[in-house]
Amino acid sequence: MSKLTPKPYISEIHAYVPGKAGGTKPMAKLSANENPLGCSKDASEAAAKERENFARYPNPASNDLREALAHHYGLESAQIVCGTGSDELLNLAAQGYAGQGDEIIHVRYGFAVYEIATRKVGATTIIAPDKDYGTDVDAILNLVTEKTRLVFLANPNNPTGTLTPQSEIERLHAGLPENCLFVLDQAYGEYMDDDGPSAFDMARKHDNILITRTFSKIYGLAAERIGWAYGHADIIDTINRIRGPFNVTTIGQAAAIAALKDQQFVIDSRAHNAKWRDWMMQELESLSNHGLTAIPSAGNFIMVIFAESEDSLSAATVNGALMDAGYIVRHLPGQGLANGLRITIGSEDENRGFIEALRAILESGGQ
Ligand SMILES: *Cc1c(COP(=O)(O)O)cnc(C)c1O
Repeated sequence: MSKLTPKPYISEIHAYVPGKAGGTKPMAKLSANENPLGCSKDASEAAAKERENFARYPNPASNDLREALAHHYGLESAQIVCGTGSDELLNLAAQGYAGQGDEIIHVRYGFAVYEIATRKVGATTIIAPDKDYGTDVDAILNLVTEKTRLVFLANPNNPTGTLTPQSEIERLHAGLPENCLFVLDQAYGEYMDDDGPSAFDMARKHDNILITRTFSKIYGLAAERIGWAYGHADIIDTINRIRGPFNVTTIGQAAAIAALKDQQFVIDSRAHNAKWRDWMMQELESLSNHGLTAIPSAGNFIMVIFAESEDSLSAATVNGALMDAGYIVRHLPGQGLANGLRITIGSEDENRGFIEALRAILESGGQ
């Protein structure tokens, strides 16, 4: 037996469980909210050009990328920090502002990384109940104590897909003490019909808000691990002190800059998603007599809840049968939703095939 003893709060962490990838047979992967259209051609070309520069360290502060982001969104580049995915930035926010004895609040059906980020700094997770799978601002505010250092909220939320109106986001922020950091995770921000400047405006006016974004979702650059955050200069300074010194690769920086310039790809991806999300919703609703409920989504995925009754199939059974049929979706027991599946909006073929497979499974009663 090793004599090494990890910190007890580290030993208690349940490691992040990623969406399943395929095995040996070809599978449709609808489990990780990736972009079915891939990424911008400009981005992959920009990435390919960087192959000659492998011997050099990347730009340590992602300077050109921060400038490009500032230009595109009308933000101050000095108030932007880039990260190894937005994952790194979520973790650093917790590390920068919370530790043992402190509390971090997130919603019950939230992104799995928040709990890991909280526990790994020794802080205590406080879980706010939901309202019909959506954010209950009053429930969050009721849990605030003098120990609360940070609130994590994703909008749109993953895995539920629910959207909290900006007015509610502002009411939540207004109810938090000034010494509490509000981390608003907008990993799916670009999928909103109105990806307007409101959240960034809110962050500009206050010194305790951090907005996080990613190139992993609509931009289709998940493999390169590129995220970014915008907030008050003091928050950015804190994160810069503790982030990895070369935390975004040269390829990642170049690909992200090119992707940002190709907004037509983003427009096309958003349109594809909206069209097929509507279609999927309709198809799922037409299957509601089998005991399933599809939750309206603002993201690139839909969560389906299965009634836990004797005459309907469970999410676990349907998940297994979908797997056998070649469709990988995300079963959500780790998020406290053992009766839930989350399905990423895929290509036209994947969406049609998925609905066909699901219908066959439900109509055969899982036999
Ligand atoms: C996918 C996702 C992220 C981050 O992904 P990165 O690839 O680390 O940028 C962050 N928050 C939510 C809610 C997500 O679903």
